[in-house]
Amino acid sequence: MTTLVTHIASLVTNDPSLGDGPLGLIQDAAVVIDGDRVAWVGETSKAPATDNRVDAEGRAGIPGFVDSHSHLVFAGDRTAEFNARMSGRPYSAGGIRTTVAATRAAADTDLAATLDRYLAEALRQGTTTMETKSGYGLTAADESRALRLAADRTDEVTYLGAHIVAPEYADDPAAYVDLVTGPMLDACAPHARWVDVFCEQGAFDGDQARAVLEAGMKKGLLPRIHANQLSYGPGVQLAVELGAASADHCTHLTDEDVDALAGSGTVATLLPGAEFSTRAKWPDARRLIDAGATVALASDCNPGSSFTSSVPFCIALAVRDMGMTPDEAVRAATAGGAAALRRTDIGRVAVGARADLVLLDAPSHVHLAYRPGVPLVSAVWRAGRREV
Ligand SMILES: [Zn+2]
Repeated sequence: MTTLVTHIASLVTNDPSLGDGPLGLIQDAAVVIDGDRVAWVGETSKAPATDNRVDAEGRAGIPGFVDSHSHLVFAGDRTAEFNARMSGRPYSAGGIRTTVAATRAAADTDLAATLDRYLAEALRQGTTTMETKSGYGLTAADESRALRLAADRTDEVTYLGAHIVAPEYADDPAAYVDLVTGPMLDACAPHARWVDVFCEQGAFDGDQARAVLEAGMKKGLLPRIHANQLSYGPGVQLAVELGAASADHCTHLTDEDVDALAGSGTVATLLPGAEFSTRAKWPDARRLIDAGATVALASDCNPGSSFTSSVPFCIALAVRDMGMTPDEAVRAATAGGAAALRRTDIGRVAVGARADLVLLDAPSHVHLAYRPGVPLVSAVWRAGRREV
């Protein structure tokens, strides 16, 4: 079964050989979808005949968003914590620990329903690939449960047993690292593709982070890392040294950190939903791009510090406050996310790529930043299937 989508006012392909500029923009474009793949891309006037035809009627087209960072296996509610933070009131409940307690107590069916709900919410906003992590279980059984539930729903699953030190180990963090790199890893590795660690003051230091990532790598997992979010630290340098696919957050970077990223295959994944929701300093995307680093944008969707599943919202923030051009932000949220997940089959609209295509109720992808907060996504194909 082949489907031809015609009259796409402007199509972002992310393949410079297909059109103008780094985005490979094609005006009045058409795309042929054959099964789950893109079979042809070009101008509408040159499109081949197909079984079905869909007229985009002058809407813009982009690859589906690749959201390379989220934490969707959770239970519980942290509305009061956000409300207190935004109201300038002190709040003493335990942050991540609150979510850990609720997640441990939740039934599998409740966690699955939450996952399904937020994956569907993201899909409606144009996200066709979503990475998600464990990290609210912090026992071997609870972490492996989280990963098993996630792996049933997405290919991009990350073991984050080293999110924080589990409350039971507050007095003995070294013993917790032994658990994360030992029995918990053994239980979790079969369900995950990636290993991650929150390298930050109050979470895991550089030596602990190295131990977690190297143990995961020995089990065949690929490294990525929460680095330099709240303070300067060793996370980015560790990511580059270990050849991590991505260093995520990158809010506090020295010149040496920026140079290391620029000279590496490690993507700098920026998560502006977190800075927005905590009124924190923005990461400096302009500085990274000017240095030559590859930048991705992702949602960091989680109930504590960034409860948004909206990549368009992150694009708008990145353009408004992080020095990115609209073209750069859209590319970072598609091709950038794919690079951060080491995927070549997604994040672009080109022959052979997975048929992940989004149409916008707008004549150009620039409207994602120009019209912030407006639900512009009007159609979504994922792996060739019309989902929205
Ligand atoms: Zn995160």
